[in-house]
Amino acid sequence: MTGFTLLTQTQLDRWVAEAKTIAHTGRIPDYIPRLAEVNRDRVAVRIQATNGQSFSAGEPSYRFAFMSVIKPFVLLFLLEKLGKQTVFCRVGKRPSDQVFHSLAQLAEDDGFPRNPMINSGAIALADLLPGRNGSDRCEALRHWLNQASGAQLMLDEAMLASVRSVGNETNRAIAQLLKQSGYLNSIGIALDTYNHICCLSGTVVDLAGLGLLLAASKTTTAADQRTVNALMLTCGLYEASGEFAVQVGVPTKSGVSGALLAVIPKQGAIACYSPALDDTGNSVAGLWLLEQLVRSLNLSLFG
Ligand code: GLN
Repeated sequence: MTGFTLLTQTQLDRWVAEAKTIAHTGRIPDYIPRLAEVNRDRVAVRIQATNGQSFSAGEPSYRFAFMSVIKPFVLLFLLEKLGKQTVFCRVGKRPSDQVFHSLAQLAEDDGFPRNPMINSGAIALADLLPGRNGSDRCEALRHWLNQASGAQLMLDEAMLASVRSVGNETNRAIAQLLKQSGYLNSIGIALDTYNHICCLSGTVVDLAGLGLLLAASKTTTAADQRTVNALMLTCGLYEASGEFAVQVGVPTKSGVSGALLAVIPKQGAIACYSPALDDTGNSVAGLWLLEQLVRSLNLSLFG
């Protein structure tokens, strides 16, 4: 037997309790001041099956900034609106073995970003979103995602102010190199858009709802869902993607806020939140929870 029908609420609650202990082995990022203020004991998980069945545990109504977990949805939106030719002129489909904000790798690749799941690729795609400025573009994405999934994403203004207060020099250098290499129109608008979309916030319930857009949605095309899922599997956890594909085997994306989303094609989505991260920048407890769920419910794509 496989699938979410095997899960019990008692088992899920037990794993969430254990996840809190596991979170203590991770580190809270502090390069964005507001991220450093979080309570490391918060854990939330939501499982949403395509047949309507759902489970929640921990703090499912806690709202957090999505950060990089929004990246697959920028890709999905642009594939739907502009098509794959336009999108893949600006970004590649190659996994990366470097940190998610690597400038050195972008330079080695002559300024062509490896994939949409790392900063360089997402900044290049932020430049393609429709709208005059970061705020308009973020709003266009937010509106489309909320309409398509029923989520209630909001812009976390305090997080955006915090991101702006430090000014990310690495992301700026990435944008400059993209521009020099001909993969960006406007450095200013692309960075402002990127900062806005990283600060879209929601709960694990919202995030799992977005995940359904990639699991078996009728509002987006199957080909675009396949493309995004393949890139999540190969690139979504940065340099840990290969290892996790072997260990767990489902398309997964992380964000530096501790957000984590896994898509189980045809079956559903699993969203986790726990802010302490491993050295790669992925939620320690989130990855552990996903592994327990996928293994015990036999959800791996590879059987
Ligand atoms: N806004 C963050 C940054 O660019 C997002 C990165 C992430 O979530 N990995 O640093």
